[in-house]
Amino acid sequence: MAAAADPDHGGVELVESEEPFRTNALLIILKALKLSHNRPHSFVFVDEILHSIFFLGNINTPPHSPKDIVNVPEVFEALLDCYPRPFKLFSSQVPKRSPFSCVLDMVVQVTREQEREQEERNIIRQLRNIINEVDPSGSRKLISSTICVSQRENSPLSTRYYGVSMSTHRRQIPIGASCLSNWQTFVANAVMTYYPHMTKKPYFDGTFTLKPEVRCVAFDLLREQEEEMAEEVVKPPCRSCGNLYGLATREVKEFTYGNCAEAESLSNLLRNERASTIISSRREYSERNLQRAKTQVENDLKSFLKMPQDIRVTFYTPETE
Ligand SMILES: [Zn+2]
Repeated sequence: MAAAADPDHGGVELVESEEPFRTNALLIILKALKLSHNRPHSFVFVDEILHSIFFLGNINTPPHSPKDIVNVPEVFEALLDCYPRPFKLFSSQVPKRSPFSCVLDMVVQVTREQEREQEERNIIRQLRNIINEVDPSGSRKLISSTICVSQRENSPLSTRYYGVSMSTHRRQIPIGASCLSNWQTFVANAVMTYYPHMTKKPYFDGTFTLKPEVRCVAFDLLREQEEEMAEEVVKPPCRSCGNLYGLATREVKEFTYGNCAEAESLSNLLRNERASTIISSRREYSERNLQRAKTQVENDLKSFLKMPQDIRVTFYTPETE
């Protein structure tokens, strides 16, 4: 459509360009259902994915209702029956993370069960295959471009922890929500130091430095298909991740703080391993300034959500059964 190619063509361009959101959203839901087949432990991820997608559809321009997204009546009815809470709460509660993070968790769960040796490679490969399936137009809507792998030390025996980059265009919302509800404290505090933009708070510094033996490496998930068999493409840490976690890098380009896959991966690492074995130094701050930073982050998040400042943000917790 000629109008779609013209970025100045007002409403027509908007409707046309937002269409991949619905396509990818439905394909991600169908993929999650497939991944959860015969795996009752995975139902919680499907619940969380549904809520996160319906929430993002609701704040999208133009908004997409659950019925617009799941536009196959039999599937819609079945989902409403099995997972009623996401349908009830998508407009009143905020997701703790983006849908693709839940997809990652599902893939990690399946792969850990199957294959210990080649785990990392298999997970990256499976995510690439999923991206090819659920993003047929290459629009990258709801898709993460990067995966990060962290380990306490670079040894085959130490457990690997994974994370993906933010997968929505309104990243300040999931980043703020992750700081307040999801990420491990040290990672949340590091990101809050800069949230929501590139400016460091004058009164609060929660950044830290990883020990040199910690392995924290990011890989590109969006390589062309023909490169599939080549070496994994390493993405060096950006300047923001250098500033937040003390990762050595020559990069000067800063990205939105908290956007990169390193945040989720390091959060999972720190949640499961002793912090003293991961972090060599971190900044000091008073409890009062920490609370001030949290309040500021919540207020900024409310502004992005266009919420009144006197209402507390409620985060969605998926049903475990
Ligand atoms: Zn980064």
